[in-house]
Amino acid sequence: MYVCINCGAECSELFRRYCPSVLKILKCERCGLTADKYIEYDPVVVFVDLVLIEKPAYRHLLYNSNFKAYWKLGIILWLAESMRAWSSCSMSDTGSIALGANLVYDDTLQGRCNFYSLLIHTALAFAAFVLTVIATTELRWFAVGGRPFKYSLKDLTRALIVGGCGKLLGLLGIAWRHIASGPCYLLIQGYTVLCLLMAYSVVCKSGKGGSLIGLIAGFLLYGYICTSASTLHLVISNVTLT
Ligand SMILES: [Zn+2]
Repeated sequence: MYVCINCGAECSELFRRYCPSVLKILKCERCGLTADKYIEYDPVVVFVDLVLIEKPAYRHLLYNSNFKAYWKLGIILWLAESMRAWSSCSMSDTGSIALGANLVYDDTLQGRCNFYSLLIHTALAFAAFVLTVIATTELRWFAVGGRPFKYSLKDLTRALIVGGCGKLLGLLGIAWRHIASGPCYLLIQGYTVLCLLMAYSVVCKSGKGGSLIGLIAGFLLYGYICTSASTLHLVISNVTLT
């Protein structure tokens, strides 16, 4: 079953092919608009609309397109975020050493900036985020109802992966170091939150407030794991040195 990209209503078919060269795009029975205009568009246009956080583009990608490589996208996202965290960590180390803050600090930070360790922490943070969002969503529907008919765990997980791709902008920080700094990275985080809100609202058919409620617990736990991971390393390193 497909979905109308304008109103989200279910459609049994999006187009009718009369002959190999003639194809007619059908209209949605509910809103009367073209059910999915992106069918005849170039994928680049879809990509641009996704970057611009257009709801129809998200509906097209999640329900009407042939894109199935979400697990690959998830792995790319995981590796990219780990790489960004590692690069950012290495830069802060270099700064500390250059300032001569602490000569012993160099050894302690070797553990904190271990790439394999950061890979595990990022995977844990991502898994915790997805599971918390799923649990909060189920809990909200259990308490207040309003569960969409077409909802599935698979769709929500896919939406979170697609929405999380805003974090790929963090890779720019590896090439252009100033982007990895606080204010710039904050903008990237803000953009990712907007993408996640849009992807979540498409799958869960909720407004901005409902989407924020569904995601907020996941954001808090993700932030907690990311900050506690670096603190834990410093504590372990200090204990080892003592
Ligand atoms: Zn419609």
